[in-house]
Amino acid sequence: RLEIRDLCRSFAGVEVVRNVSLSVMPGQVTCLLGPSGCGKSTTLRMIAGVETQDRGSILMDGKVLADDRQFTPPEARRIGLMFQDFALFPHLSVAENVAFGLDGPKAQQRARVEELLARVEMSRHIDNYPHHLSGGEQQRVALARALAPRPRVMLMDEPFSGLDNRLRDEIRDQTLDVLKDEGTAVLLVTHEPDEAMRMADEIALMRGGEILQQGAPYNIYNAPRDKFAVAFFSDIN
Ligand code: ATP
Ligand code: MG
Repeated sequence: RLEIRDLCRSFAGVEVVRNVSLSVMPGQVTCLLGPSGCGKSTTLRMIAGVETQDRGSILMDGKVLADDRQFTPPEARRIGLMFQDFALFPHLSVAENVAFGLDGPKAQQRARVEELLARVEMSRHIDNYPHHLSGGEQQRVALARALAPRPRVMLMDEPFSGLDNRLRDEIRDQTLDVLKDEGTAVLLVTHEPDEAMRMADEIALMRGGEILQQGAPYNIYNAPRDKFAVAFFSDIN
């Protein structure tokens, strides 16, 4: 379980993330939803450890990953990342891409690679190279790669925005199934309310660096807290 408490971050005197607190449970999807520039990616980057927070703490299963005194480097956080422009390594095969973050005996690595490629239905492409794959196929390999080292939490920043509509629905559903199977906690960033409604167990609606409202999707949808929330959800079909 990932927990963040009172996270704050300023750039050049402007506070872009202010007192953001939330938690993400294993096998559940929490969505950070909000308009462009509201601080979603900055929040994710602090959780990943590629950005430092000014104040606040980040805990995994009750253990501090980062606070005023401690800082666990990104590679030791057991956090997986999927971003839209998080490309596969072009010079590595599908199998090598998925094995990239793994260590231990080769046979064990190979077993994990095969297991994950089967899960994302990419087994037959195991020896292909990324430029031979479609966008959706690359996305599935990227998911397998991110899951390979068994992260406790997966951070996803608009990971589906590069895909066309039909493909997006398919990859979205498959990604959720695989993540739930693995028991991974998911924190998904999006600016699209319908994506949040479809995918989230819990939504945190952000505006201007703050969480404005947090709860189950239908609770927020049915009882938006103010005009901003009403307007934000109004273009859902
Ligand atoms: P989008 O939906 O467009 O991706 P976002 O919610 O992810 O937006 P952030 O990327 O977190 O927004 O940015 C929040 C604010 O912080 C923006 O105004 C941005 O310009 C600013 N910002 C982010 N990173 C930096 C940085 N390294 N230096 C200065 N300002 C930054
Ligand atoms: Mg962003």
